Amino acid sequence: MRARDLERYRREIGWKDAPLLEVAAPPPSETLPESGDLDSLAREATTCARCRLSEQRRNVVVGEGDPHARVMFVGEGPGAEEDRTGRPFVGQAGLLLDAMIFALGLERRQVYIANVVKCRPPGNRDPQDDEVAACAPFLDRQIALIRPQVIVALGKPATRRLTGSAAPIGALRGRWSSYLGVPVLPTFHPAYLLRTPLAKREVWQDLKTVRARLEAPASTTGESPTGSSPHP
Ligand code: URA
Repeated sequence: MRARDLERYRREIGWKDAPLLEVAAPPPSETLPESGDLDSLAREATTCARCRLSEQRRNVVVGEGDPHARVMFVGEGPGAEEDRTGRPFVGQAGLLLDAMIFALGLERRQVYIANVVKCRPPGNRDPQDDEVAACAPFLDRQIALIRPQVIVALGKPATRRLTGSAAPIGALRGRWSSYLGVPVLPTFHPAYLLRTPLAKREVWQDLKTVRARLEAPASTTGESPTGSSPHP
């Protein structure tokens, strides 16, 4: 989506008064991605049959974006449109995610977008615990390869996986934790925002928190380059 279209979309969804973010976009990746690794992960994922979700999928939706992204968004799992196209967040929720990315002063091609499960749960139900566990090695490897500065966990399944907490998303959103040494900030899922537009206010706050972290010198964020263990 072009900046002009996103600006119109921001107005339509009531974000017209939100200040435009002026973060200088990070330079595009200078080197070719070490895509050997992400590519081999993608190849492995396309033949994966670790859980029942493989039985009905049309496409494995591995993820997409800049392999050197500073921000990684992790959603729940592919929906119908994502299953059809093989790309994450291409439906209505994807438009809203684009607006969220834009609010960080970035474009979709500058972030990395993945899901906790790479195959569509039938009827768009929540992924079950064993399905999330079966897919976790893929997500963990993506995080380890990309090593983003920040992960934004979108909605409950991603938040649960990345924080290890099953508390309601309303209690966890906007609060930092860490996964595989990467700071994680949970927020509401864009699909929830489509149903509950008033929650955009909180998401806006959360994105400001992310932006502040991206702008802060590393010495003030207290980040350790290696860190916490994965949650079970
Ligand atoms: N919702 C998600 O969580 N992920 C997608 O890829 C699309 C919709």
